[in-house]
Amino acid sequence: MIRLTTLALVSAALIAAPAGAQRNFDDVEIKAEQIAPGVAVLYGAGGNIGVSYGDDATVIIDDQFAPLTDKIEAKVEELGAQPVKYVVNTHWHFDHTGGNENFGKAGATIFAHDNVRVRMAEGGTVVGNTTPPAPKDALPVVTYGQGMRFHLNGDTINLMYLGGGHTDGDSVVVWEEKNIVHMGDLYITIKSFPFVDRSSGGNVYNMMTTLDLVIAMLDDETKVIPGHGAMSNKAELVAYRDMIGEAVSRVEALHEDGATLEEAVAAKPLASLDREGGFVSGDAFVTAIWGSIED
Ligand SMILES: [Zn+2]
Repeated sequence: MIRLTTLALVSAALIAAPAGAQRNFDDVEIKAEQIAPGVAVLYGAGGNIGVSYGDDATVIIDDQFAPLTDKIEAKVEELGAQPVKYVVNTHWHFDHTGGNENFGKAGATIFAHDNVRVRMAEGGTVVGNTTPPAPKDALPVVTYGQGMRFHLNGDTINLMYLGGGHTDGDSVVVWEEKNIVHMGDLYITIKSFPFVDRSSGGNVYNMMTTLDLVIAMLDDETKVIPGHGAMSNKAELVAYRDMIGEAVSRVEALHEDGATLEEAVAAKPLASLDREGGFVSGDAFVTAIWGSIED
Protein backbone atom coordinates (compact mmCIF):
# COMPACT_ATOMS: atom_id res chain seq x y z
CA MET A 1 0.00 0.00 0.00
CA ILE A 2 2.81 2.39 0.85
CA ARG A 3 4.43 1.84 -2.51
CA LEU A 4 1.21 2.49 -4.39
CA THR A 5 0.49 5.62 -2.36
CA THR A 6 3.91 6.98 -3.20
CA LEU A 7 3.38 6.27 -6.88
CA ALA A 8 0.05 8.01 -6.75
CA LEU A 9 1.60 11.10 -5.25
CA VAL A 10 4.34 11.15 -7.86
CA SER A 11 1.74 10.85 -10.61
CA ALA A 12 -0.36 13.61 -9.13
CA ALA A 13 2.61 15.95 -8.81
CA LEU A 14 3.70 15.36 -12.37
CA ILE A 15 0.39 15.77 -14.09
CA ALA A 16 0.17 19.15 -12.39
CA ALA A 17 3.63 20.27 -13.53
CA PRO A 18 4.23 22.36 -16.66
CA ALA A 19 4.75 20.42 -19.88
CA GLY A 20 7.56 22.56 -21.13
CA ALA A 21 9.41 22.91 -17.86
CA GLN A 22 12.86 21.42 -17.61
CA ARG A 23 12.26 18.55 -15.31
CA ASN A 24 14.67 15.98 -14.08
CA PHE A 25 13.50 12.43 -14.65
CA ASP A 26 16.77 10.84 -13.46
CA ASP A 27 15.19 9.62 -10.23
CA VAL A 28 12.09 8.19 -11.85
CA GLU A 29 12.05 4.43 -11.69
CA ILE A 30 9.81 2.47 -14.01
CA LYS A 31 8.11 -0.32 -12.09
CA ALA A 32 6.33 -3.22 -13.75
CA GLU A 33 3.27 -5.01 -12.41
CA GLN A 34 2.38 -8.23 -14.20
CA ILE A 35 -1.41 -8.44 -14.30
CA ALA A 36 -1.88 -11.45 -16.63
CA PRO A 37 0.33 -13.66 -18.79
CA GLY A 38 1.66 -11.34 -21.51
CA VAL A 39 0.18 -8.21 -19.95
CA ALA A 40 1.90 -5.76 -17.61
CA VAL A 41 1.40 -2.24 -16.36
CA LEU A 42 4.37 0.10 -16.14
CA TYR A 43 4.31 2.87 -13.54
CA GLY A 44 6.77 5.74 -13.65
CA ALA A 45 5.86 9.38 -14.16
CA GLY A 46 2.79 10.32 -16.14
CA GLY A 47 0.06 8.01 -17.36
CA ASN A 48 0.12 4.31 -16.61
CA ILE A 49 1.44 2.22 -19.50
CA GLY A 50 -0.27 -1.01 -20.52
CA VAL A 51 1.94 -3.58 -22.25
CA SER A 52 0.86 -6.53 -24.41
CA TYR A 53 3.64 -8.89 -25.34
CA GLY A 54 4.18 -12.41 -26.55
CA ASP A 55 5.03 -14.31 -29.71
CA ASP A 56 3.73 -11.73 -32.14
CA ALA A 57 4.65 -8.17 -31.18
CA THR A 58 4.88 -5.76 -28.28
CA VAL A 59 2.20 -3.10 -27.99
CA ILE A 60 2.29 -0.32 -25.42
CA ILE A 61 -0.67 1.80 -24.41
CA ASP A 62 0.68 5.34 -23.76
CA ASP A 63 4.36 6.23 -23.32
CA GLN A 64 4.76 8.85 -20.54
CA PHE A 65 7.60 11.37 -21.04
CA ALA A 66 10.44 11.48 -23.60
CA PRO A 67 13.29 11.28 -21.04
CA LEU A 68 11.84 7.95 -19.81
CA THR A 69 11.84 6.11 -23.15
CA ASP A 70 15.11 4.27 -22.50
CA LYS A 71 13.92 3.15 -19.08
CA ILE A 72 10.58 2.04 -20.52
CA GLU A 73 12.33 0.05 -23.26
CA ALA A 74 14.63 -1.53 -20.68
CA LYS A 75 11.68 -2.57 -18.54
CA VAL A 76 9.89 -3.99 -21.60
CA GLU A 77 13.00 -6.07 -22.35
CA GLU A 78 13.10 -7.20 -18.73
CA LEU A 79 9.59 -8.59 -19.17
CA GLY A 80 11.02 -10.82 -21.89
CA ALA A 81 9.19 -8.86 -24.56
CA GLN A 82 10.29 -7.90 -28.05
CA PRO A 83 11.09 -4.23 -28.74
CA VAL A 84 8.01 -2.02 -28.95
CA LYS A 85 6.38 -2.33 -32.38
CA TYR A 86 3.07 -0.55 -31.80
CA VAL A 87 2.18 2.42 -29.58
CA VAL A 88 -1.40 3.39 -28.77
CA ASN A 89 -2.20 6.82 -27.33
CA THR A 90 -5.34 6.88 -25.17
CA HIS A 91 -5.47 10.68 -25.73
CA TRP A 92 -3.19 13.56 -26.66
CA HIS A 93 -2.01 14.83 -23.24
CA PHE A 94 1.74 15.24 -22.89
CA ASP A 95 2.09 12.87 -19.94
CA HIS A 96 0.70 10.05 -22.13
CA THR A 97 2.36 10.86 -25.48
CA GLY A 98 5.73 12.33 -24.48
CA GLY A 99 7.62 9.25 -25.66
CA ASN A 100 5.99 9.21 -29.11
CA GLU A 101 8.81 10.91 -30.96
CA ASN A 102 11.41 8.51 -29.58
CA PHE A 103 9.33 5.41 -30.28
CA GLY A 104 8.33 6.73 -33.71
CA LYS A 105 11.95 7.37 -34.64
CA ALA A 106 12.86 3.89 -33.41
CA GLY A 107 10.39 2.45 -35.92
CA ALA A 108 7.25 1.87 -33.88
CA THR A 109 3.88 2.64 -35.47
CA ILE A 110 1.64 4.94 -33.43
CA PHE A 111 -2.15 4.54 -33.30
CA ALA A 112 -4.78 6.88 -31.86
CA HIS A 113 -8.17 8.46 -32.39
CA ASP A 114 -8.34 11.05 -35.21
CA ASN A 115 -8.55 13.97 -32.77
CA VAL A 116 -5.34 12.94 -30.99
CA ARG A 117 -3.37 13.53 -34.17
CA VAL A 118 -5.16 16.83 -34.83
CA ARG A 119 -4.51 18.16 -31.32
CA MET A 120 -0.89 16.99 -31.23
CA ALA A 121 -0.22 18.59 -34.61
CA GLU A 122 -1.68 21.90 -33.42
CA GLY A 123 -0.36 21.89 -29.88
CA GLY A 124 -2.28 23.62 -27.14
CA THR A 125 -2.52 24.74 -23.56
CA VAL A 126 -4.10 22.56 -20.88
CA VAL A 127 -4.60 24.22 -17.49
CA GLY A 128 -1.65 26.51 -18.08
CA ASN A 129 0.64 23.81 -19.49
CA THR A 130 1.57 24.56 -23.08
CA THR A 131 2.45 21.73 -25.42
CA PRO A 132 4.03 22.92 -28.68
CA PRO A 133 3.00 21.38 -32.03
CA ALA A 134 4.41 17.87 -32.15
CA PRO A 135 7.17 16.94 -34.59
CA LYS A 136 6.20 14.58 -37.40
CA ASP A 137 7.74 11.49 -35.81
CA ALA A 138 5.60 11.98 -32.71
CA LEU A 139 2.28 11.99 -34.56
CA PRO A 140 0.03 8.94 -34.78
CA VAL A 141 0.43 7.33 -38.20
CA VAL A 142 -2.78 5.29 -38.06
CA THR A 143 -5.89 7.04 -36.77
CA TYR A 144 -9.51 6.01 -36.44
CA GLY A 145 -12.91 7.50 -35.69
CA GLN A 146 -14.66 4.69 -33.86
CA GLY A 147 -11.95 2.15 -33.19
CA MET A 148 -9.88 -0.77 -34.44
CA ARG A 149 -8.53 -4.10 -33.23
CA PHE A 150 -5.13 -5.73 -32.87
CA HIS A 151 -5.08 -9.51 -33.28
CA LEU A 152 -1.91 -10.72 -31.63
CA ASN A 153 -0.34 -12.39 -28.63
CA GLY A 154 -3.33 -14.73 -28.40
CA ASP A 155 -5.76 -11.91 -27.78
CA THR A 156 -7.97 -9.36 -29.46
CA ILE A 157 -7.06 -5.90 -28.28
CA ASN A 158 -9.93 -3.58 -29.02
CA LEU A 159 -9.35 0.18 -29.24
CA MET A 160 -12.66 1.95 -28.78
CA TYR A 161 -13.76 5.55 -28.99
CA LEU A 162 -17.01 5.65 -27.02
CA GLY A 163 -17.64 9.40 -27.00
CA GLY A 164 -14.68 10.69 -25.04
CA GLY A 165 -15.27 12.98 -22.09
CA HIS A 166 -11.81 13.62 -20.67
CA THR A 167 -10.97 15.01 -24.12
CA ASP A 168 -12.58 14.57 -27.54
CA GLY A 169 -10.23 11.75 -28.49
CA ASP A 170 -10.20 9.24 -25.64
CA SER A 171 -9.71 5.58 -26.45
CA VAL A 172 -10.57 2.76 -24.10
CA VAL A 173 -8.46 -0.34 -24.72
CA VAL A 174 -9.92 -3.78 -24.01
CA TRP A 175 -8.06 -7.10 -23.97
CA GLU A 176 -11.03 -9.30 -24.86
CA GLU A 177 -9.58 -12.69 -23.91
CA LYS A 178 -7.68 -11.62 -20.82
CA ASN A 179 -10.52 -9.42 -19.56
CA ILE A 180 -8.51 -6.26 -18.99
CA VAL A 181 -9.32 -2.64 -19.79
CA HIS A 182 -7.06 0.43 -19.95
CA MET A 183 -9.18 3.51 -19.28
CA GLY A 184 -6.78 6.33 -20.10
CA ASP A 185 -7.71 9.39 -18.05
CA LEU A 186 -11.43 8.65 -18.21
CA TYR A 187 -10.70 6.98 -14.88
CA ILE A 188 -8.05 7.84 -12.29
CA THR A 189 -7.55 6.20 -8.91
CA ILE A 190 -5.39 8.93 -7.40
CA LYS A 191 -7.25 11.21 -5.01
CA SER A 192 -8.56 13.98 -7.22
CA PHE A 193 -11.80 15.04 -8.79
CA PRO A 194 -12.14 13.78 -12.37
CA PHE A 195 -10.36 15.82 -15.01
CA VAL A 196 -12.69 17.03 -17.74
CA ASP A 197 -10.34 18.92 -20.06
CA ARG A 198 -12.67 21.54 -21.48
CA SER A 199 -9.87 23.03 -23.57
CA SER A 200 -9.47 19.67 -25.36
CA GLY A 201 -13.14 19.05 -26.04
CA GLY A 202 -13.90 17.27 -22.77
CA ASN A 203 -17.46 17.15 -21.46
CA VAL A 204 -18.67 15.48 -18.27
CA TYR A 205 -21.81 14.11 -19.90
CA ASN A 206 -19.70 12.37 -22.54
CA MET A 207 -17.50 11.04 -19.74
CA MET A 208 -20.52 9.54 -17.96
CA THR A 209 -21.81 8.02 -21.21
CA THR A 210 -18.42 6.49 -21.95
CA LEU A 211 -18.09 5.11 -18.42
CA ASP A 212 -21.58 3.60 -18.63
CA LEU A 213 -20.71 1.88 -21.91
CA VAL A 214 -17.48 0.52 -20.46
CA ILE A 215 -19.09 -0.66 -17.22
CA ALA A 216 -21.70 -2.58 -19.24
CA MET A 217 -18.85 -4.55 -20.86
CA LEU A 218 -17.09 -5.53 -17.61
CA ASP A 219 -17.57 -8.25 -15.02
CA ASP A 220 -16.32 -8.72 -11.48
CA GLU A 221 -13.10 -10.34 -12.72
CA THR A 222 -12.09 -7.53 -15.08
CA LYS A 223 -8.77 -5.90 -14.31
CA VAL A 224 -9.09 -2.15 -14.72
CA ILE A 225 -6.02 -0.04 -15.52
CA PRO A 226 -6.64 3.63 -14.64
CA GLY A 227 -4.85 6.50 -16.37
CA HIS A 228 -3.16 7.37 -13.08
CA GLY A 229 -2.98 5.51 -9.79
CA ALA A 230 -3.17 1.91 -8.65
CA MET A 231 -4.88 -0.99 -10.44
CA SER A 232 -8.60 -1.22 -9.96
CA ASN A 233 -11.75 -3.21 -10.68
CA LYS A 234 -15.34 -2.87 -11.84
CA ALA A 235 -16.80 -2.10 -8.40
CA GLU A 236 -14.43 0.83 -7.89
CA LEU A 237 -15.09 2.09 -11.41
CA VAL A 238 -18.83 1.98 -10.74
CA ALA A 239 -18.32 3.96 -7.52
CA TYR A 240 -16.31 6.55 -9.47
CA ARG A 241 -19.05 6.82 -12.11
CA ASP A 242 -21.67 7.22 -9.35
CA MET A 243 -19.58 9.95 -7.69
CA ILE A 244 -19.51 11.86 -10.98
CA GLY A 245 -23.26 11.45 -11.36
CA GLU A 246 -23.83 12.81 -7.86
CA ALA A 247 -21.52 15.78 -8.53
CA VAL A 248 -23.33 16.58 -11.77
CA SER A 249 -26.73 16.42 -10.05
CA ARG A 250 -25.61 18.87 -7.38
CA VAL A 251 -24.22 21.34 -9.91
CA GLU A 252 -27.27 20.96 -12.17
CA ALA A 253 -29.49 21.87 -9.20
CA LEU A 254 -27.56 25.10 -8.64
CA HIS A 255 -27.69 25.85 -12.36
CA GLU A 256 -31.45 25.31 -12.47
CA ASP A 257 -31.91 27.52 -9.41
CA GLY A 258 -30.38 30.38 -11.37
CA ALA A 259 -27.04 30.57 -9.58
CA THR A 260 -24.10 32.13 -11.37
CA LEU A 261 -20.95 30.05 -11.85
CA GLU A 262 -19.26 32.12 -9.14
CA GLU A 263 -22.09 31.38 -6.72
CA ALA A 264 -22.04 27.70 -7.62
CA VAL A 265 -18.30 27.45 -6.96
CA ALA A 266 -18.65 29.39 -3.70
CA ALA A 267 -21.38 27.01 -2.51
CA LYS A 268 -18.78 24.16 -2.46
CA PRO A 269 -21.38 21.60 -3.54
CA LEU A 270 -18.84 18.77 -3.90
CA ALA A 271 -17.12 19.10 -0.51
CA SER A 272 -18.70 15.94 0.92
CA LEU A 273 -17.51 13.77 -1.99
CA ASP A 274 -14.05 13.52 -0.41
CA ARG A 275 -11.93 13.84 -3.57
CA GLU A 276 -10.22 17.13 -2.65
CA GLY A 277 -6.43 17.33 -2.49
CA GLY A 278 -5.37 16.26 -5.96
CA PHE A 279 -4.70 17.68 -9.39
CA VAL A 280 -8.33 18.69 -9.98
CA SER A 281 -9.97 20.66 -7.16
CA GLY A 282 -13.66 20.65 -6.37
CA ASP A 283 -13.87 24.21 -7.68
CA ALA A 284 -12.30 23.16 -10.99
CA PHE A 285 -14.69 20.23 -11.31
CA VAL A 286 -17.73 22.43 -10.60
CA THR A 287 -16.47 24.78 -13.33
CA ALA A 288 -15.99 21.91 -15.79
CA ILE A 289 -19.49 20.56 -15.07
CA TRP A 290 -20.92 24.05 -15.48
CA GLY A 291 -19.28 24.40 -18.87
CA SER A 292 -20.52 20.94 -19.87
CA ILE A 293 -24.10 21.92 -18.96
CA GLU A 294 -23.81 24.97 -21.16
CA ASP A 295 -22.15 23.24 -24.14
ZN1 LIG B 1 -5.08 13.26 -19.64
